[in-house]
Amino acid sequence: MSKFKYGPAVFKIDYALKESIPWKDPRCLKASTAHLGGTIEEIAFAEKQVWNGKHAEKPYVLLAQQSEFDNTRTPEGQHTCWAYCHVPYGSEKDMSSIIENQIERFAPGFKDVIQAKSHFSPKMYQEYNPNYIGGVISGGATDVTQLFTRPVARLNPYTTPNSSIYICSSSTPPGGGVHGMCGYNAAETVFDKLFK
Ligand SMILES: Cc1cc2nc3c(=O)[nH]c(=O)nc-3n(C[C@H](O)[C@H](O)[C@H](O)COP(=O)(O)OP(=O)(O)OC[C@H]3O[C@@H](n4cnc5c(N)ncnc54)[C@H](O)[C@@H]3O)c2cc1C
Repeated sequence: MSKFKYGPAVFKIDYALKESIPWKDPRCLKASTAHLGGTIEEIAFAEKQVWNGKHAEKPYVLLAQQSEFDNTRTPEGQHTCWAYCHVPYGSEKDMSSIIENQIERFAPGFKDVIQAKSHFSPKMYQEYNPNYIGGVISGGATDVTQLFTRPVARLNPYTTPNSSIYICSSSTPPGGGVHGMCGYNAAETVFDKLFK
């Protein structure tokens, strides 16, 4: 367990907006999630910096604009969005202005439409959900070595040395992501052990 790699954390900001995001390219309003990073080289460079324990000055920002697709989330005419970027594990740096500068590159005037905001630092994420250790929302790094051997190498990763305890969550294969497969596979294991 002590060898488990967590990987980068996230710093996230939730926004209430006076109006839609003023994207340079209005087609961006048709995407529920926009991935902001300029060129692929720029995104790769920013992500590499974070993996090397540094904060990117032009981070790869993931931005979701839910109210463009679900108007029950805001008063009429107003909007919500959130945006996050990767930061080193356990980072305490306030990334708000860096994230907003990156959004402004692709949506000049974004700062002017902000009505209210609040943020989640890695520490706050861990307090909110103890499974987000160090602010890592994916339950640990999903690299070649940890894709199937998470959290440790076991023939059936949903079992533990205690035969009455099973584990799921994104810290088991196939890792983080809104696919539900970790819980599904764990439930199948429990079913097989108890009822077959
Ligand atoms: C801001 C953000 C953006 C993300 N964006 C994406 C994305 O775009 N694409 C993507 O694929 N993934 C994304 N993810 C990651 C994805 O949401 C997680 O990897 C995934 O939800 C993890 O699944 P999980 O089953 O481990 O945990 P969760 O989905 O957190 O499920 C755990 C469940 O267990 C419940 N629970 C906790 N403790 C107890 C208890 N004691 N008793 C009973 N129930 C309990 C919780 O209420 C929760 O429902 C994002 C995550 C965050 C935070």
